[in-house]
Order: sequence, then C-alpha cells, then structure tokens
Amino acid sequence: MDKFQVLKQYFGYDNFRDGQELLIDSILRGQDVLGIMPTGAGKSICYQVPALMLRGITLVISPLISLMKDQVGALNNMGVHAAYLNSSLTPGQYRKALEYAKAGRYPIIYVAPERLVTEEFLDFAQDADISLVAVDEAHCVSQWGQDFRPSYLKIMDFINRLPKRPVVGAFTATATKEVRDDIIDILMLQSPEVLTTGFDRPNLYFGVQTPRDKYATMKNYLDLHREESGIIYCLTRKVVEEVCDRLHGDGFPVTRYHAGLSDSERRQNQDDFIYDRYPVMVATNAFGMGIDKSNVRYVIHYNMPKNMESYYQEAGRAGRDGEPSECILLYGGQDVVTNQFFIDHNQDNQEMDALTRDLVTERDRDRLRKMTFYCFTNECLRDYILRYFGEYGSNYCGNCANCLSQFEEVDVTEIAQALIGCVLACRQRYGTNVIIDTVHGANTAKIRQYRMDENPHYGELSGAPVYKLRQVM
Ligand code: ADP
Ligand code: ZN
Repeated sequence: MDKFQVLKQYFGYDNFRDGQELLIDSILRGQDVLGIMPTGAGKSICYQVPALMLRGITLVISPLISLMKDQVGALNNMGVHAAYLNSSLTPGQYRKALEYAKAGRYPIIYVAPERLVTEEFLDFAQDADISLVAVDEAHCVSQWGQDFRPSYLKIMDFINRLPKRPVVGAFTATATKEVRDDIIDILMLQSPEVLTTGFDRPNLYFGVQTPRDKYATMKNYLDLHREESGIIYCLTRKVVEEVCDRLHGDGFPVTRYHAGLSDSERRQNQDDFIYDRYPVMVATNAFGMGIDKSNVRYVIHYNMPKNMESYYQEAGRAGRDGEPSECILLYGGQDVVTNQFFIDHNQDNQEMDALTRDLVTERDRDRLRKMTFYCFTNECLRDYILRYFGEYGSNYCGNCANCLSQFEEVDVTEIAQALIGCVLACRQRYGTNVIIDTVHGANTAKIRQYRMDENPHYGELSGAPVYKLRQVM
C-alpha cells in the first residue's frame, strides 16, 4: 500500500494536511525529521502512516499516559495492532505485552520514556527490528521547554544501545528557537528535515479583559452566546467547582472536568460536552488533550495560565472547524500569585538536581512574566503570540482586542512615584487601599491608627481622583 491508501484505508482521510506529506516522505526515505506543528495540526499521522508502511516496529515515546491509551485504542479500532507500555499496566500485563511485542505482533508500540532503559525493555529491543523511533512532545528534552522531563534524556542512551540506529522523528508544538536547537542536539538528529507549519490561526479572535467582577463579565458573555459551545479554563479545581456551580445555578448547560474527579465521571462529562448534551465545559488544564471537538466557539480563561505555551494550546481548542471563534482571557492580579506558587512548589521538579531545578524555576518565572505582559500589551495580541513562538506577525491583524481599540498614551510618572514612595516608606506593610488613601490624604481612623498621616507621601496627590490612583496602582 502507498501512503495515500494507508491514509484512506486506516484513517479514512483523502488528503494529507500541510506538512504531513513532507515529513512522511522523509521518514520513509530514512531521514530524521523534526515536526513543529501547533496542537491539532495532526502530528500523529506523521509517524502512524510510516509505521504502517515500514518493515520494522515503530516505537512512539510519549509522556502522557492518557494520550497513549487514547491513541492505542483508536488504532486498535482501525484494525491496527498497537500496544502501550507504561506504569498503568500491572507487571503481568506488562510481561504479556512484551511477549507479544517480541513475537512481532505490534507494528506500533507506545512506550513511556522511563521504561526505555530498563533491562526488560532493552532485552526486547536488542532483538527487535526497530525502524522508527518517534518522540512525541519532544520539547520535554529541553530545559528551555515548558515541560522539561529528565526521563527524556534517556532516549539517546536507549537509541545508542540498539544494534542498528533507527530513523528518529521528533514532534512538538513548541517552536521557540532554544527548544528547537535543543531537540536537534540532544536527540542527535542527523541532518533532519525540519518542518514548521504556521502557528497563526486567523479565525481566532484574541482579547484580554481585567474585569472587577470576573464572574459577572463571563456570565454576560455566556448570555450573549447562549446557543454556542465553549470551554472555560480555571487554574484550580476549587475554582472549577465554584464557577461550575454558579453557572449551573444561573441556568447554563455546564459540565466540569479536573483531575480530582473519578475516571468514570471525567469520561461521562467529557462525552456530555463532545456530544453537546452540555455544551459548556468548565475545566482545569487537565482537560483537552486528545479532544477533537470542532465547533467550540469560544475559550474563556477565567484565570491567566502559567505561560504562553499553555495559553495558546488551550485557546487553540476553539474554532478547529475554521469558523470565527473567540479566545478571551480574564486577567486578575491574583492569577500571577497563584502561578508563582505553582512554580515554586512544582513537584515534577523534585527529581532534578538543585542546579537544574533552579534553572528550570527561573525559566518558568520568565515564562510567567511573558504571559503577564501579554495581558498588558497594547500591541496586536496575535503578533505578540506569533513573536513568542518565533514567527513574524504583521503588527496589525484586525482581529484582536488591541487592533480593534484606540489607545491613548498617558504619563503617570508622578502618581507612580508617589505610590511607590509611599509603599517604600511604610516598608511594604500595608495593602493597596491604605496606600491609596494615604497618598490621597484621607483622614480616617485607620489611617491615623497606622500613623500613615505621618508618611512623607501623605496627601501628596490629594487633587488626583481616587479611581485614577487605583488604575495606576
Ligand atoms: P496533534 O497531535 O498535532 O495535536 P492529532 O494528531 O491529534 O494532532 O490530530 C488532530 C486531529 O486532526 C485528529 O482528529 C486527526 O484525526 C485529524 N487529522 C490529522 N490529519 C488529518 C488529515 N490529513 N485529514 C483530516 N483529518 C486529519
Ligand atoms: Zn491584532
């Protein structure tokens, strides 16, 4: 069968999408590849089609157990024998799967990176005919990436121990230059075909708002989009529960998804959403991997996520059908604090040595800063995103909140100096209200009690309206 027949017979598609063919042809020729494609572009076809055409076995290395299960399930439904080897199998199941693998039963085997250099797996790999190693989520090898996993560094170790070097294909949705270079170096790709498909999604509108009352703002939006399907992303399970309950109480057809729910409830809710029984999903970032719902008309971020990679991946779940859709981020200062907390208490980083951990933490902080800047920039939002991912935008897209608003530049030096000076003089002891009242010269019991009327900046800007001070604050 040629690649078109494979595509048609197993996957039911008539044509390849942008870039898929180039990568498949390279792999079939025996050339390494690096595919950088946004989520949903169709990376898996790029290694699954060759897997069904190459003589030997294709190993797919993936860090995501649930994604492995989904893909293996889908392949088996298409009549392809595939298996996964990861920590979700019992030792008995694992042995059985390896036995079948040895007997040459599976053209495709998904394996978790930490399994690669175990004795059992190496023993199997020594005698197996491995044609292709496909590294999914390849940015995980890079400390520059948003999801560095030390276990990914074992991949080269593994490949080096094979009797014959297979073709190596790397796939990721993260396109920053540092990550790209790291993937090529660390996986030692040999003159790879590098393909980057465009990251721009012109049908998506981008907007950022900083509402006083996030819930009211969102509810208002939902009211205006009653008949549509959407996803609302929150940072924590607790917020998911709160928002979902309130929306439910307000009569919206919502369901929810986060890692704290049972497997069966997650599956149920996911199906309810996909089949539009409950077209509005309130979820943490645990939701969305491998989900392919084409008619999502909006993605609202109730909280700012921790970096642009996450944001674009989540927002990108809107408008897969190419129809106009909206991605709106509701920013609040607390979001920065929550994300900072997550970064400082990241359990995933525990297995790293201290030096690496510091480095990774610093880069996470930097990514959070760039995410925060996104919420404050006056420039074209799409341009900001594309530049972040190493592409050039046009400075004006005409389909984002900033391109569609007029900005007026205002000099706030004087107010900023007074506020910062006041904070400094009281040694950061008090919150925003006290600072604003002090600078404004309020004569309240609280101000007197804190002796802020003795602060050198007391009453310095008594002429400026309070709302103005608050804005600048
Ligand atoms: P990624 O891994 O890049 O996020 P997937 O490989 O999961 O994306 O593919 C996303 C969706 O696009 C899947 O539903 C897949 O079946 C579909 N798809 C991929 N390639 C094609 C194609 N050539 N024609 C039609 N649909 C495709
Ligand atoms: Zn724009």
